[in-house]
Amino acid sequence: MEHHSVIIAGGGPGGLGVAATLDGWHPRFEGDYKYPSEEVQKFARAYEHKPLSFDLHELLVLGHRPIEFFRMRHHPTQDALPFEDWTLKFSKKERADWLMLTTDGPGGLWNNVPKEQMTLGPAHWMELAHYPIGKFYEQTGRDRDLNALAHRDDLVSYYQAFAEELGLNDHITSGVKVTNIAPAGEDIDARFVVDSVDQSTGVTSQYSCDYVVFGVGPRSAIRKLSVHGIDQDYIALAYTHHEDYPGDRVLVVGGGRSADWAAQELHDAGRIVIYVMRQQADAHLKLINDSQFLPYYQRWGEILSGDQERMGLLYGSNVTAFEPGGLVTIATPEGSVQVQVDHAVIEVGGDPDYELLKSFNDLTFHTKRDNFRFQLNQLVVDQATFESVDIQGLYPTGYSAQGTGLSVIGFHAGCFLIAGDILRKSGAI
Ligand SMILES: Cc1cc2nc3c(=O)[nH]c(=O)nc-3n(C[C@H](O)[C@H](O)[C@H](O)COP(=O)(O)OP(=O)(O)OC[C@H]3O[C@@H](n4cnc5c(N)ncnc54)[C@H](O)[C@@H]3O)c2cc1C
Repeated sequence: MEHHSVIIAGGGPGGLGVAATLDGWHPRFEGDYKYPSEEVQKFARAYEHKPLSFDLHELLVLGHRPIEFFRMRHHPTQDALPFEDWTLKFSKKERADWLMLTTDGPGGLWNNVPKEQMTLGPAHWMELAHYPIGKFYEQTGRDRDLNALAHRDDLVSYYQAFAEELGLNDHITSGVKVTNIAPAGEDIDARFVVDSVDQSTGVTSQYSCDYVVFGVGPRSAIRKLSVHGIDQDYIALAYTHHEDYPGDRVLVVGGGRSADWAAQELHDAGRIVIYVMRQQADAHLKLINDSQFLPYYQRWGEILSGDQERMGLLYGSNVTAFEPGGLVTIATPEGSVQVQVDHAVIEVGGDPDYELLKSFNDLTFHTKRDNFRFQLNQLVVDQATFESVDIQGLYPTGYSAQGTGLSVIGFHAGCFLIAGDILRKSGAI
């Protein structure tokens, strides 16, 4: 069985940040930065050359959130900081022994979002600090505003360049799905055994390791719509691009941001859209009103307040059957209706695949929601290290760790807590 000190499951922004840090790209602080708290300032100064070596429990005891120690330094202002003003720098140190197993390549779920998907926040909020996105734009001749939304094509290329630039690719195995994570038996000199399967050949492998970084992301277990006829040939289980649905009438089932995106793009491409969601109108309208700073929610405002006749919204409703030939039965508050469509697009979201951890009993979860209808169960972790409170040596990364926001800017700094803890425990720093 192949052994590595650390196995990272998942190649999204969560896994990549930890990988880069374990690969030896260690943060250091340089120049003037003033933390709001004098106590934090003192620690930052004392450890400016090696902040990873500092046990952040010391901040926790003083009532400060350890993840902020790095996050404030990376994003000290709302707008992007010119690179020359950064006080968070990196030095290359010795690499730790890590291996990443991931289904998609670098960039995680961004590899599979709709073809024209934009981010919901500025480009620099999606950045992993070791390789600034501004530097990527510059090096690849992209003339872009760091404070503007980013297109998924740029973002996937950025995460790929991140892996390339920092020399991570030799240790990233893509096209491989982790199928189980379990405690190693007594006969194995390691803490965990990780099972995996090569998605193209079906060949299975087993790895042993001492630490697992759990970064399979928020959609690693896609929700299924258990409805009669879900396998009809006019149904797509994820939205891609309006050209992939050439017929006139498209049914969208969902209610989250991905379904909103699909319904709007189809509508604006001239389709007649029937948008079915379980939630009530007031919840959807609140989201639209609260998100007017985003262009695609401004557009939603226009669509709803205009004289549009091609967007039929069915709130508080459920599809009850997909029949052959595009006939769909929907239960609405007014009773059952049948519609005839050319295509149906299902966008009902997903959850982190905690089934991978079924060998461990009684995991403790924290239910997290944000204003944009992202919601999921996060694993409860030590807030100074992001180590699971239930599974010693297992670190949820991305936003499956409690205490992170549901966005890259919200969780990225967790990679320093995780890598720092692993490096300190394994005696590397
Ligand atoms: C449509 C959409 C728009 C979004 N917009 C934004 C935004 O604007 N800003 C923002 O900050 N966030 C946004 N998000 C949230 C998004 O989740 C984060 O941007 C980010 O991708 C999360 O990173 P992650 O590493 O936790 O997970 P992911 O990006 O999901 O990466 C995890 C990866 O792990 C791999 N994987 C899954 N299961 C396994 C397995 N069993 N074995 C091996 N590998 C596996 C897959 O390759 C997966 O892609 C958006 C999400 C969606 C769906």
